[in-house]
Formats: sequence, structure tokens, C-alpha cells
Amino acid sequence: MMNLSELIQLLETLGTSPKKGLSQNFLIDKNIVKKIVQTANIQPGDSVLEIGPGPGALTKELLDAKANVFAIEKDPLFAKALYRLQTPDQRLTVYAKDALEMSFHQIPFQKVVANLPYHITTPLLEKLFQTPFQTLTLMVQKEVAVRLFAKSGTKDFGSISLFTQFHATPKSHFIVSPNCFYPKPSVDSAVIHLESRTLPNVDEKPLFDLIHTAFQKRRKMLTTSLQALIPKDTIQEALSKLSLRLDARPEMLSLNEWISFLQTIPQKLCQ
Ligand code: SAM
Repeated sequence: MMNLSELIQLLETLGTSPKKGLSQNFLIDKNIVKKIVQTANIQPGDSVLEIGPGPGALTKELLDAKANVFAIEKDPLFAKALYRLQTPDQRLTVYAKDALEMSFHQIPFQKVVANLPYHITTPLLEKLFQTPFQTLTLMVQKEVAVRLFAKSGTKDFGSISLFTQFHATPKSHFIVSPNCFYPKPSVDSAVIHLESRTLPNVDEKPLFDLIHTAFQKRRKMLTTSLQALIPKDTIQEALSKLSLRLDARPEMLSLNEWISFLQTIPQKLCQ
């Protein structure tokens, strides 16, 4: 892969410089790039979606691992420059598009490997969770990784943790220092590896409507925060049926407990 001076040379040739508004912090550490592709367990012939390939450090490593790569890049200069990495057997497909505005359903991928543009991590995750996948191996802000992997009862546990764990099984993560990027981001990063899971047998919308309402008043007891939706005595009855504390706050319930809680509430109240 390119070292820092080769990257700077490429930027000069393209007549561009890193754009903050597109979260352009490029990987310059060879070992981290290799570790990401190893973590994703890429096998020859795998079809991989890469969001935000930029100058192509990860793209090149994925192609070297004999994957078929579908790369979506919003910056037209980088999208065009990626064609220099094309393989003789045409394993690279480039979409010069905004990943938030294109449907992932049209791309035949199994795995996602990406150093995500951090400013759109949440909408991209929401989009990925609506599309079938085998694994996701993603560079995100460290604080986001901590929230996605958080367990119930901890301060970092929130609706995004529940949403992630509803759709995927968090497998592993490792921290990446700002020194591994050019330019250096002002935050620490982490690579997270998630596997798809069989979705719980419950309707997602009423479950997350309930969860979002509760977490809007995170410090309040469920008997207070959900009172606008469900009568207080019904909430108390459900909590005691599930052997949960009557003063439970939203972060105290695991995903399975939230599902049981929803299933214990009379259906007409949760639609
Ligand atoms: N993968 C490269 C690397 O690791 O060096 C670049 C990663 S950089 C953090 C994020 C990349 O996402 C940039 O190339 C940026 O132009 C691109 N990007 C930003 N917003 C995007 C969007 N909405 N759709 C597709 N790509 C986007």
C-alpha cells in the first residue's frame, strides 16, 4: 500500500487535499490495513462492499486477497482514481455515488469492510442492517464502538446498542490510534467485527418505538418515561412478571428483557 509520501503525491496529482466534510482521514498504516482484512476473514471469491474507499488502501488489500470488491465513493476524484487498482479479471466495481442515496440491495455482497466516514456512521449502520449480510468489519469512532458493544446495566448502553445487537452479534474489536491516519483525526478509532444473526421473532417497529421513548428520558424509571404510552400499573405488572425491579431504568434491561417486556404488554397498547 501507499506510504505517507506516496499518498501526498497522489493527492497532489489529483489536485486535491483531504476534505473534512467527507470525513477524509486516510489509513497510512500497512499493519492496520492487513489486520482489518484478516479480521474480516476474506477468502478468495468473497464479494465485499466497501463504503468510502478514498485513495484505496483497503481496496487494494481486499483485491490482493482475491475478493470481488464493490466500492462506493462519493468524492468523484477518488472514485475515478480507483480504476488504477482494477485487476485483469475485473474484480473491482466502483460506484461514484453517495452511499446514503443508493440502494445496497442491488449489490451482490456478503461482507462489508470499510473505514467509514464517521459523520454518517449511524445512518449507514441503519442502512446496512436493512440489507442481508454475513459480516461487517468497520472502522468507527472508538466512542461509537463502545456504545455498539455495550452490555445492559452500563453507562454506555443505549438504544443504538440494542439496535445493533438486535441485528448482529458483536464478535471482536480493536483500537486504532490517530497516528495511523493522514490527516490525524481528533478522536480515537476502533475496528468492530459483527456477524449477522437470526433476527428475534418480534416486530421491530413497536419494540424500538418503545425503546426510543424510554431512552429519551434515560434517567427516569420506565414507569415514568413510558407513562404516555402505557398505564403505570400495566408497566409495573409487566416488570414484576419478568422479575425486574419496579424502579427499572431503560439501560437496566437487556435486549431479551426488552423483547419479553414488549410481549408482556397487551398488544393494543404497543401499536
Ligand atoms: N477507505 C479509505 C481509507 O481507509 O484510507 C478512506 C476512508 S475515509 C475515513 C472515508 C471515505 O468515505 C472518504 O474517501 C470519503 O470521501 C468517503 N465518503 C464520505 N461520505 C461518503 C458518502 N456519503 N458516500 C460514499 N463515500 C463517502
